[in-house]
Amino acid sequence: MAKKVRYRVAGGCALCMTCIYQCPVNAISLIEDVSAVIDQEKCIGCGSCYNACQPEAIVQEKIEEEA
Ligand code: SF4
Ligand code: SF4
Repeated sequence: MAKKVRYRVAGGCALCMTCIYQCPVNAISLIEDVSAVIDQEKCIGCGSCYNACQPEAIVQEKIEEEA
């Protein structure tokens, strides 16, 4: 099923790793001392990371449906 939203770490990541523990498909990894990053190929768009991120570093973006 095509995703309608995309989640992305935009900035202000506190490196807390909460999102990494929340993600059901292990789509998030941490670039040490920099930021968490979401692998868009693995992400299923569940929103758990977005809801869990206290500093609101993760943004939700609407995307066009892909075939
Ligand atoms: S939950 Fe937010 S602040 Fe914490 S590692 Fe993930 S993106 Fe960064
Ligand atoms: S939206 Fe869900 S699947 Fe995608 S990175 Fe966040 S927790 Fe993982």
